[in-house]
Amino acid sequence: MPAIPGEPRIRTDLVAALDVGGTSIKAGLIAEDGTVVRESRRPTGAEGGPQAAVDRIVAFAQDLVDTDNVRALGLGVPGVVDSAAGIARYAANLGWRDVPFVRLLSDRLGIPVVLGHDVRLGALAEAVLGAGTGTDSVYFVAIGTGIAGGLVEGGRVDNGATGQAGEVGHLVVRPGGPLCGCGNHGCLESIASASRIGRAYSELTGVQASARDVVELLQSGDEAAGQVWADAIDALADALAAVTVLQDPGVIVIGGGLSLAGEALTGPLAGALAQRLTFRTAPPIAVTELGDRAGLAGAALLAWQQLRKDKP
Ligand SMILES: [Zn+2]
Repeated sequence: MPAIPGEPRIRTDLVAALDVGGTSIKAGLIAEDGTVVRESRRPTGAEGGPQAAVDRIVAFAQDLVDTDNVRALGLGVPGVVDSAAGIARYAANLGWRDVPFVRLLSDRLGIPVVLGHDVRLGALAEAVLGAGTGTDSVYFVAIGTGIAGGLVEGGRVDNGATGQAGEVGHLVVRPGGPLCGCGNHGCLESIASASRIGRAYSELTGVQASARDVVELLQSGDEAAGQVWADAIDALADALAAVTVLQDPGVIVIGGGLSLAGEALTGPLAGALAQRLTFRTAPPIAVTELGDRAGLAGAALLAWQQLRKDKP
């Protein structure tokens, strides 16, 4: 129905959401039912140093919150994140330390601002809107260049005491194994991340390959690809067995680039996980439904949760 001239337009309340990655920042204005009203993307500009990246995030947020129906802002960043204090403690790929994002942004925008960890926000989104919908306890693990995870219980993200809960990528599954970026040896991430799967194949065969190549070679019966894949599945199953025993999730959702392998990943992984759980059944394993939008959707959900909490 066309608007009657002079009639005030009914404007829906929105939240702004930002999801900061190593190379790009995704942003959107999102309604309470999850409808994305506007979406855009800018480079993070990490090569200019940590302060430049922080400045770009603040400027992006200011440009996004340009109407008075934007009620709150949710920001997701990688690294070590203290959500309660509103401070991004550390991010290896962005180089920052102790950035008080909540204070910085709420001072400039004059609306409530909430801060979360990118992967744990992805977990929240999968639990509420994606592959974990209808399950009370959802464990999400993102497997890409690195590996990180997060647990959502009853629609709430478990951040831990210092903002580092769920970091399954640094669970040591092969003591004395390959050196991990964290300085330890044999972390899950040092064996089963997409980048390490590609590298393991290259080391074994002398042929350069990515994880995606390994999955393709696997389908064609390549023996070395089969071996590298089996090693990665074993390591993932060991880690997810530990997660299952500790947390008892109702479903494990796999995200990140490696989730594109689909059944080639979830099939053998479900079998290997079941084998390791001697006294209990294994939770089902699903792949992400929200893909690379999970972090952004989670940042919006967190902002909506904050608004509902603030309501008198
Ligand atoms: Zn590690």
